[in-house]
Amino acid sequence: MTDQDLLILILVAIYLSECVSWVPITDYVAQFSRLRKGTFHRPGQGLGNDRGRFLFSRVLPFRAGTFTTPQTAGSFDLTAAEQRWQEYQSISRLVAWGSNTTFLLLFLVLPLVWRNLGGESLVLLMAFFLTLVSGLVTGIVHFRAHRKLFPDQRDERWKQACLIAVLPTHACRAHDQLGRQLFREFHPLVLAWLALPQAPFAKCAGRFLRHAVHPLAAGDAPENLPALRQFLDDRGFQLKPPVSAGEATQYCPRCETLFGPTASRCDDCGGLALERC
Ligand SMILES: [Zn+2]
Repeated sequence: MTDQDLLILILVAIYLSECVSWVPITDYVAQFSRLRKGTFHRPGQGLGNDRGRFLFSRVLPFRAGTFTTPQTAGSFDLTAAEQRWQEYQSISRLVAWGSNTTFLLLFLVLPLVWRNLGGESLVLLMAFFLTLVSGLVTGIVHFRAHRKLFPDQRDERWKQACLIAVLPTHACRAHDQLGRQLFREFHPLVLAWLALPQAPFAKCAGRFLRHAVHPLAAGDAPENLPALRQFLDDRGFQLKPPVSAGEATQYCPRCETLFGPTASRCDDCGGLALERC
């Protein structure tokens, strides 16, 4: 392995480490760059412990878009959420350009020039300079976009802008990092609706509704249950029982586990009475 290869490998390793972040255990995570074309993760899904877990973002910056929202009651105002998305799309466009340009310079142009023209060439020096300038410009446009989207988060804005401006690998992730807090005042199901196609959203919505209607402890029913029902009604969602399979003709209305005809309660859900499929 040559020195060139080693340096590129180190750069790739640093970049991949930038694609991994730590998310509190209470947060839901959606990853999408186009509406209804993404993924949605519940708290606890993935590698981690009882305080949080690792989140792996999409490696290509132009496909990235990571959003988190806490496991607390939030707004169901979908119109406001969609307006927030449109605003983000418009404001973050330059940051996306900055991230993508820095990525291409760092991982395509620089290695190609170095391999073909050697480490002493003036072209390599220019490509290196361009990469630094691209990172710096990305830091500036990120600062401006962040100020419009999150006017109250001044300290975070300065911290991110400085890191992006001096670390090209961080600049590549600037667009993904920018939207992380965008939907934090909304209910996780609003985020799921924005991220997921119809079928996976219905599965996710069913789980939310079943857990809200049948809380594990008495008195744990969420206060926003009527708003949750209204949101799902407006989306045309209806809770359906699972399909029976052979002898399994009963199910738990909370976890949807199927049971035979002799069972009467689901122990995993606090002894909840079963229902017929
Ligand atoms: Zn159950």
